[in-house]
Amino acid sequence: MTNALTRHNICTILLGIAYILPIPLLSQSRDSLANNPNLFIQLAAQQLHWEEPARPTRIVGPVYFVGTRGLASYLITSFAGHILLNTGMPSSGPMIDSNIRALGFHPEDIRYILSGHAHIDHVGGHAYMKRVSGADIVIMEAEKELLESGGKTDFQYGAYPAFHFEAVKADHIVRDGDSIQLGDITMHALLTAGHTMGSTTWYFDVEDSARMYHIVCPDGTTINPGYHLSVNPSYPGIQQEYEQTFEGLSELKPDIWLSPHTDFFQFDQKRRAAEKEGVKAYVDPAGYRKRIAGELQKFKAAVLREQQQRQ
Ligand SMILES: [Zn+2]
Repeated sequence: MTNALTRHNICTILLGIAYILPIPLLSQSRDSLANNPNLFIQLAAQQLHWEEPARPTRIVGPVYFVGTRGLASYLITSFAGHILLNTGMPSSGPMIDSNIRALGFHPEDIRYILSGHAHIDHVGGHAYMKRVSGADIVIMEAEKELLESGGKTDFQYGAYPAFHFEAVKADHIVRDGDSIQLGDITMHALLTAGHTMGSTTWYFDVEDSARMYHIVCPDGTTINPGYHLSVNPSYPGIQQEYEQTFEGLSELKPDIWLSPHTDFFQFDQKRRAAEKEGVKAYVDPAGYRKRIAGELQKFKAAVLREQQQRQ
């Protein structure tokens, strides 16, 4: 599909596909989505509520959810200023800005803007939030080019306009094992490549009511429609990078895990439970292990499928 596609045509196709395919649509139409990345992003945004506003809330200690209904952004506050992790879609910037203000904080106090990986649904609002805050953009070295090209150098989606976002310059480069320190917060960067070449898992510790919580924001495990891992790999070494990512993630032992997509870690459910239980509702080490094991299973199945198809 080209960007010449009219709005009317897109609506007609969306309605057609929604009618034909059962829910969950996105997981049941991989082959067609692989051939049609522009449509893939349109459907995902619509069906996973990426561009709908959501109410901000405190999760634990100085960690707040400030994202949209489908895309998580996190504000981590400190006495020396704040850190913002992920900025959603290009339309998310104003929503994140007003969520931060609704919590009583000032976007101007953000010092660092971090991301899990540089796809349009997690760094789409970077340029907007940088203009609002003047914060430094922090990025993994291997992800710098993708961020600064506005998505145009993506190994899978570079040619597809629906994946492009406003390019933004990196101010601060991190490498595997580096950390970002602000006030009493130290966020560690673990390179978890595969989904993109510089996908990054951030982890850190926070205190809440005299108890410490280990927080992990896992990234890099998802295999998008059209990715090739083993046979004619999408980029050299992608399979090995995913393998290292799963090893690295399985060594982390979070009390609380926070994903870039709200549906990945049942945020709505946890948020509802937290109204009665407080922080306890978010403590979910078993859910983390289950998620990583499930993602590893999907990865192994995808590799096996490629190898069987070759024979
Ligand atoms: Zn992505």
